[in-house]
Amino acid sequence: MADDHHPGYVPRFFTEGAPTQDFPTEGMDPRAAYQLVRQEVSFDGDPWRNLATFVTTWMEPEAQDLIAESLHTNFIDHAEYPRAADIERRCVRMLGDLFNAPAQTTGARCQGSSEAIMLGALAAKWRWRKAREATGADTSTPNLVYGRDVHVVWDKFCRYFDVEPRTVPMAEGKYTIGPGDIEALIDENTIGVVAVLGTTFTGQADDVAGINDLLLSIRSERGLDVPIHVDAASGGFVWPFIYPDTSWDFRLEQVHSINVSGHKFGLVYPGIGWLVFRHSDDLPEELVFYENYLGETDATFTLNFSTGSSKMVAQYYNFCRLGRAGYTEAIGAMKTNAEWLAAGLLESGRFDLIGADGEQLPLVCFRVSGDPAFDERDVAGQVAMDRGWMLPAYSLPPNAEGVTVLRALVRSNLSRSAAETLLGDIVGACETLDRKGGLHPDARARVRAGTGY
Ligand SMILES: *Cc1c(COP(=O)(O)O)cnc(C)c1O
Repeated sequence: MADDHHPGYVPRFFTEGAPTQDFPTEGMDPRAAYQLVRQEVSFDGDPWRNLATFVTTWMEPEAQDLIAESLHTNFIDHAEYPRAADIERRCVRMLGDLFNAPAQTTGARCQGSSEAIMLGALAAKWRWRKAREATGADTSTPNLVYGRDVHVVWDKFCRYFDVEPRTVPMAEGKYTIGPGDIEALIDENTIGVVAVLGTTFTGQADDVAGINDLLLSIRSERGLDVPIHVDAASGGFVWPFIYPDTSWDFRLEQVHSINVSGHKFGLVYPGIGWLVFRHSDDLPEELVFYENYLGETDATFTLNFSTGSSKMVAQYYNFCRLGRAGYTEAIGAMKTNAEWLAAGLLESGRFDLIGADGEQLPLVCFRVSGDPAFDERDVAGQVAMDRGWMLPAYSLPPNAEGVTVLRALVRSNLSRSAAETLLGDIVGACETLDRKGGLHPDARARVRAGTGY
């Protein structure tokens, strides 16, 4: 057989397998290494059939060129790449404008919303502590108030940074929070209230305006100034374009910080998120570090240090390329297809929709109606077997965990033709499941174990 430095027809890995444990003693020919790795990653799901992810799986060729051309740029190296640093500030200012900031904002490019949330919540903790220390009050028991409809990152923040989570449970039919849910949870140790714009579970929004009103009255009646952080990971690039008249952003006085994922409806490949403050004063000076390792004194507010700037460059491309008009067209088109798919599922008589009667992300959240011989997980398993659709079935958060739903994200990979195929496949899966009396038990076990197909 060929040695990989002088490869013949069959590369070494073909019979030896891929390195998985020991650090390889010898290397291999680049072509052989490419084939090996390419085959490994090809076992992952096909992005065109991925209805589960919120993350962008398609960008224009020009954006891909810009990404490829800036792959070498280390974002943190502001001395060598000052224009990249300037592009961060431009994007933050544009997002401040999009989110109706009243004055000069500040913020940060992040790896995603998770980093943005850690930083935004840390800023809230610092502001709370400074205010308490100024009056000599105790600072040992900070708490954060949010609904169980949040993303797991908020529980992570609380655990990693020693903050008590005060959470509002869900219930069947109630998958978001409003002012009535949180009033009793707020006290002088509350560093903030989290409101979600476009939840991961159902794509709905918490009542941010109602929460803002409550916090304004708490401020005037009890003297507690509790800020809102809006987790707009998905909704931040949806609401401004298709629900521009709904106030959820800095138009509301108590909203002090917002995160948004550029790699979700910001329409950029994975690796970009944003944190935007209402006002530069909302970022405590103590969280900004100054160093000069790279030749110039630089202010950094980030959890990572070295990281690529290519996704940020791609975000700036999208802002320039699309503008408000382009995003409105793109997100509006996704919403149109989501509504079409929702109407078809409803018309089939087999499903009930969740959240479709109000403002919602471009997705369809639905559950099996009536009492057929199959459930949501069976449907997910059947459409995976039939055509490789990755359609997630999952239970809603406590105390609505008895409700299992299916959720199809409608992004730029779901054209009308693809949506028609999907609808036909979902309804066809129900017919198959009627005949079989549910999914084959073994297959169902594999789907439940998350090993899929
Ligand atoms: C996706 C998501 C997050 C996490 O964002 P990443 O960009 O994946 O780090 C947080 N909150 C909500 C509501 C989300 O949808």
